[in-house]
Amino acid sequence: MVKLIITVAPTGNVPTKEMNPNVPITRTDIAAQIYECWKEGAAVCHIHTRDKDGLPTSDVDVNRAVMEELDKYKDCDIIRQLSTGGRAGKTYHERGQMICVAPDMASLATGSSNFPTRANLNDPETVSYLAGEMKKYGVKPEIEVFDSAMIDAAVRLCEKGEISAPMHFNFVLGMRGSLPARAKTLFYLYESLPPSSTWGVSVIGKEHVDLSVMAMALGGHVRVGLEDNVYYSKGVLATNVALVKRMVNIAKAIGRDVATPAEAREILNLRKK
Ligand code: MG
Repeated sequence: MVKLIITVAPTGNVPTKEMNPNVPITRTDIAAQIYECWKEGAAVCHIHTRDKDGLPTSDVDVNRAVMEELDKYKDCDIIRQLSTGGRAGKTYHERGQMICVAPDMASLATGSSNFPTRANLNDPETVSYLAGEMKKYGVKPEIEVFDSAMIDAAVRLCEKGEISAPMHFNFVLGMRGSLPARAKTLFYLYESLPPSSTWGVSVIGKEHVDLSVMAMALGGHVRVGLEDNVYYSKGVLATNVALVKRMVNIAKAIGRDVATPAEAREILNLRKK
């Protein structure tokens, strides 16, 4: 079976220090935690940035500063993915402004759904704009699937040449207002993918271990991190490193090798470093 790509999503837009003091907010903390997770086996980092007040921002300088902080870890070849999520900007220009920093990848939700208390708005114009920016800077989209319709939307964008094949999908399960964290949901999404695709899951809530294992068994990849789960288990606060370590241990136990960033680059068809 293809080696397992573990992505770490250390910060997100929602977690605060009050929710879990281990959430990295500053650029130095974000980079330091990514480095520790890379040492444990994470091949990709999914980055959200915060402003000086700790609020989500897509500011290009803030994003560049995090990249520069990561550059200081000279031996760290982790694949860098920036978020274009809807909570960190009002307009699509705002949300896509940091794509010019040219990370390896950026997230791209190809349709709309709901977050727990607000809409997750990605209208066709926004999606095309963000996809266009990614194409311009050689950034591979990770299609964030909050609803099954987003798979078909991505296929249509691919047919129009706005996204290149093979595509990489991340199934976001357990976000209230979007797809539920259930095995049958995962199977349905998996079976709906274009054959050349690669895919993974990020699961929010107590099902995150079970469904991550299921994805592993199906040949998919996994994302973990405080963005998706501030708890490691009931009543126990998580750390990013502990969440990565658990996935590495499970992969070992079921005989699935973990991909290095260089191997993940090949699996995901990314440009060479
Ligand atoms: Mg995100």
